[in-house]
Amino acid sequence: MFLIKIYSVIVIIFKHILILIKFIDFNILMNKELYNKKSKEQLRQKLNSEAFDRTTCSFYKYVELNDIIDFRDRLYIDWNELKVLGRVYLSKEGVNAQVSIPNHNLSAFKKHVYSYKEFENVDFKVAIQEGDSFYKLNIKIKDEIVAYKIANDEYDMDHVGQHLNYKEFNNAINNGAIVVDVRNYYEGEVGKFENAIIPDVDASIELLPEIKKILNDKRDEKILMYCTGGIRCEKASAYLIHHGFKDVNQLKGGIIQYANDIKENNEDSKFIGKNFVFDHRLGERITEHIIGKCHQCNKPSDMHTNCFNQACHILFIQCKTCAGKYDKCCSMGCSDFIKLSIERQKELFKAGKMKFTAQKSNSIKPKLYKVKDK
Ligand SMILES: [Zn+2]
Ligand SMILES: [Zn+2]
Repeated sequence: MFLIKIYSVIVIIFKHILILIKFIDFNILMNKELYNKKSKEQLRQKLNSEAFDRTTCSFYKYVELNDIIDFRDRLYIDWNELKVLGRVYLSKEGVNAQVSIPNHNLSAFKKHVYSYKEFENVDFKVAIQEGDSFYKLNIKIKDEIVAYKIANDEYDMDHVGQHLNYKEFNNAINNGAIVVDVRNYYEGEVGKFENAIIPDVDASIELLPEIKKILNDKRDEKILMYCTGGIRCEKASAYLIHHGFKDVNQLKGGIIQYANDIKENNEDSKFIGKNFVFDHRLGERITEHIIGKCHQCNKPSDMHTNCFNQACHILFIQCKTCAGKYDKCCSMGCSDFIKLSIERQKELFKAGKMKFTAQKSNSIKPKLYKVKDK
């Protein structure tokens, strides 16, 4: 009898401890919301109802980061309070951030960033064109801030290429230097420096070895690299230098900085077309040139879009006419699929009947001529 009493007292105490733990957890969640819990549509509506303007900007830095999970949580809580939206990658090697900030919080945000000694001296680059760039704040922990997946002993971040400003970059082009696009193929499809080499690769992990191969007999020549904001050139230039290239240069601040400088100084842009960006805008127009082609009818177009069939979602270029003809889809197959009831779509998808000839890896460089209508 006595033992049973002790037992029930222990059970009651244990239950109370459990309730207490739950209560504490609940409080943490209430005060420090670490994840977005709203749907895309809710987020879009929230953004549209905002009574203030936003600025899209980006920054990056190669710097050793420690206690990264704790670091991520602190950034998320503070930036969420400042109503910052965007996509941020953190890794042991540094930070890569694209963010949209309410204009009235812009200086508070910069102050907060600079309050971390790790982010000392980062350069903020402001986007060329405005528009709703991001709907939520996403801070992810990654292995690398740029996923080239090259071995650590194939580059040394203490030996990166020479940083050239817009003027030095233009002069070097005029003097016949080799220009290499260090972005993904589909980015170069809608905008590039005139005469730039656009490596024909599907994935970032193939890019650096391919560039090395293309430039193999040009190790003593002047090489100019460029990317969107400069971050990819940092590692790419370190890689080429490690592999014996003598005169490696990179565009300081990337296309974003270049476009801003060209505009400010009223100079002609040697970058033509659109600067592809990784947010909902999918591109910022730099010049009126349309260098891309619709992947469906081959007519001039530089409108990137994702297939309207969410189960496919392939990224491709589509002109207005084809958008109408294919219901914003990449193929008649996808167009037929979205006309089925949601239940039927789910059924077919589950049964593996909805076969996409455009595979996942192709979503970064669509090869639509291979897409067969079902
Ligand atoms: Zn078309
Ligand atoms: Zn599709």
